[in-house]
Amino acid sequence: MKFFDAHTHVQFAAYDADRKEVIKRALESDVFMINVGTQRNTSASAVKLANEYAERLYASIGLHPIHTEKSYHDEKELGGGEAAKSFTSVGEDFDYDYYKKLALDPKTVAIGECGLDYYRLSEETKEKQKEALVRQIELAKDVKKPLMIHCRNAFADLIETLQSPSSKLQNPGVVHFFTGTADDAKKLMELGFSFTFGGVVTFPPKAGQPRADTPNYNEVIKMIPIDRILSETDAPYVAPVPYRGKRNEPAYVVEVVKKLAEIKGISNDEMADKVFENSKRIFIPI
Ligand SMILES: [Zn+2]
Repeated sequence: MKFFDAHTHVQFAAYDADRKEVIKRALESDVFMINVGTQRNTSASAVKLANEYAERLYASIGLHPIHTEKSYHDEKELGGGEAAKSFTSVGEDFDYDYYKKLALDPKTVAIGECGLDYYRLSEETKEKQKEALVRQIELAKDVKKPLMIHCRNAFADLIETLQSPSSKLQNPGVVHFFTGTADDAKKLMELGFSFTFGGVVTFPPKAGQPRADTPNYNEVIKMIPIDRILSETDAPYVAPVPYRGKRNEPAYVVEVVKKLAEIKGISNDEMADKVFENSKRIFIPI
């Protein structure tokens, strides 16, 4: 059985002490992975890391919508040093030429994570987020690689942007950590997108009504055809059960696949094969 963690961040500072061991555990579990960049330096380090391994490690490069803002800083991503703080305080503009160089690397298989995130939005960055997304769609078209989209609390605007004729891509890509509704999923599928699901699928459903933006995962996953479903960890964040609350890592994607199999009512083997096939078709066409 082979597994595919289609969205992870092993290049982040959270793994500075034991990155090689984390990757070794993944490779021993037959887990392929795409390390996803979120800004200039984590995109460059994703490409560098992918090139240190002959196979099974790939990179995605791009500017995450939260990094178009000035104040955001995540210690797991950049470490706690003063240098990292002053670096993130800039608020990044999308530098097309910088990212295009990284995009052309043979180990780069996607553009992103790019998208819209209205969760901690300060209104004036809304336009900036959209601008960066549009430029990254252009880049995906330019280098003929699919998109790795991040979207939080912004599905209506995301879908509107992707529906624009100038956003049409032959191989559109995935919406990672999908949290939209069944209706959002349908619209995105019409546009050719697939979806990655991560650790959250293994969490027991919360009592009471879900918030409007956190749908019943099982129902959405049941509705989405199996050839549009991929697995991810989004490590170091959101570790699946039984590792919930700990630092996540790509080897744990096995738990996500197990749960997806259960929801879809098929065997683990079949789910792993399907997810692997889908990931290869989208990201590593031969
Ligand atoms: Zn991510």
